[in-house]
Amino acid sequence: MRRNHLAVVGLIILAAIALIALAAPILPLPDPNATDLPARLAPLLSPGHPLGADQLGRDMLSRIIWGTRVSLAVGVVAALAAALIGSLIGIVAGFYGRWVDTALMRAIDMLMAFPYLLLALAIVAALGPGLLNALFAISIVNIPFFARSVRGVTLGLVRRDYVDAARLTGQGDFAILTGEILPNLLPVIVITLSTTLGWMILETAGLSFLGLGAQPPQADLGSMLGEARALVLVAPHVALIPGLVILLLVIGINLVGDGIRDMLDPRLGSGGLARPGAATAVAFDAGSPTPEPPPAAAALGVRNLATHFLLGGERHKAADNVGLDLHAGECLGIVGESGSGKSVTALSILRLVPTPPGRIVGGAIHHHGQDLLGLKPADLRDLRGNRIAYIFQDPLGTLNPLLTVGEQIAETIRRHQGKSRSEAMALAVDLMERVRIPDAANRVSAYPHELSGGQRQRIGIAMALANDPDIIIADEPTTALDVTIQAEILDLLRDLRRERGTALLFITHDFGVVADLCDRVMVMYAGRVVETGPVRDVLRDPRHPYTRRLLDCVPVLGQPKRALNAIPGLPPAVNRLPQGCHFADRCDRVIERCRTSDVALDPIGPYRTVRCIRAREP
Ligand code: ADP
Ligand code: MG
Repeated sequence: MRRNHLAVVGLIILAAIALIALAAPILPLPDPNATDLPARLAPLLSPGHPLGADQLGRDMLSRIIWGTRVSLAVGVVAALAAALIGSLIGIVAGFYGRWVDTALMRAIDMLMAFPYLLLALAIVAALGPGLLNALFAISIVNIPFFARSVRGVTLGLVRRDYVDAARLTGQGDFAILTGEILPNLLPVIVITLSTTLGWMILETAGLSFLGLGAQPPQADLGSMLGEARALVLVAPHVALIPGLVILLLVIGINLVGDGIRDMLDPRLGSGGLARPGAATAVAFDAGSPTPEPPPAAAALGVRNLATHFLLGGERHKAADNVGLDLHAGECLGIVGESGSGKSVTALSILRLVPTPPGRIVGGAIHHHGQDLLGLKPADLRDLRGNRIAYIFQDPLGTLNPLLTVGEQIAETIRRHQGKSRSEAMALAVDLMERVRIPDAANRVSAYPHELSGGQRQRIGIAMALANDPDIIIADEPTTALDVTIQAEILDLLRDLRRERGTALLFITHDFGVVADLCDRVMVMYAGRVVETGPVRDVLRDPRHPYTRRLLDCVPVLGQPKRALNAIPGLPPAVNRLPQGCHFADRCDRVIERCRTSDVALDPIGPYRTVRCIRAREP
């Protein structure tokens, strides 16, 4: 929480007010209710009355401190009571469901049917004015907020597998409620509490302002404001001071509430819910070396690309010093374990890495000689899905569930080719035939959920092909599919590449797929390229120990006795990369020097590069 400056400010304001209010009995203050008519409406800084005096000559400083104490106490108690009762109702309704849920929630609905300030007024009118009754009223009108949000979350929780698992271990309802459900609900309750507390203090003040809360001579912030209302022009300080304290108190509580919410929800802190910009920010580190210019002849040339994530003050080097060339009609495979930076590299090319937290901090990316990192947003949009297309790993997650697949293919055609709706739909049918979806004319009006996983991925490929791009980036397009479908999709990509001469950047963690489809391969490890070369050469004679180990994991048909050696250990975290070779800890050929000196990506032979100081050894 210390990193959230606003929350710290809120905490300081709140702590200061709360401390002073708590210390009221031991502070050398005059009696807040003692009248002293000669001092009436004394201005600020009068002798004996540092904050002046009100219309009855009562000391403002003393009244404001005692009044704040009352307001805080009523607000906090009302909030706690509402949280306790409301959450209890919510849990029981959500957990037991059926008639219990119906009965409780209809009762809550009845409370919500009235504007709640009116309801509070009605309750106080029925019970009679007074602070305690105001407290009851405020608690009751706030119960629905807790009951509703807690019930909603509970409904989601009771269907979770871990609740079923707890049942399977023989636990009863009470144990499940307290052991499984409640801990997961606490953040929701605390967040609702912290965000409604300020509101409740305001409501209490509102009732007192109307004369229904604190009764004279007792002071609370609302009643002080109410009594001073008539004096605003004559003695503005008498009204301003309680107003200011209410303002500070509510701002403080809200800032702290927001801070608590951010702290309890890690997605907020990591920027996960922050709305990312339309393009990855490009902000070169001061002193980062000027990248070499990529060759103009390449369809895609990347040099020294560094894409980092700035999370909680730490820098995650997801892709660092990555370089690649992709020529027209060529297929380059990127291979590496999960988390090695393949997707980040590919997304950086189209500037699709979310900012925040991602950022391109160095390097050059050229498309037919055009610098992509300096592109204006409009030009970038013209490029995406048009000259460079992207096929995502999860076809269900990337298709809009409410639009037919035909409409979604047509969308990208219309965006880039300016065709009419019917022309674009006709083209969509053509494309669906080209990616071999049977009965395309009818399937164009199918929704994504009506297609199988393989067909959905074909739709993804059809969308990528829609504008006849010169580069297709495919990010693990077959990982979610079974092997027969995978083989068909790979066939399809191979044919399309042959027919149209499209360059393909194919990301996978499966060397078998690379062998099947690609001309050249680039192996990545912990955000860096560790080996590149023609697929045949790398397969026959891998030079980096990591490539070697990856190849050892591929089963070979006809060699049933071959041991499949998984690589022991895990890749290093990209925010704590070790010095020297990143693979050293898992390497079977590691020597002293690997851990001390930085290892460069060196050429061995005309077409190959390896990042290993022992690459030339047999
Ligand atoms: P893969 O090679 O499996 O495609 P990625 O390129 O997706 O791996 O991820 C590389 C690294 O970047 C991982 O350590 C991952 O945790 C980190 N990373 C990726 N996306 C984000 C993000 N949006 N926020 C923070 N870290 C991320
Ligand atoms: Mg990935």
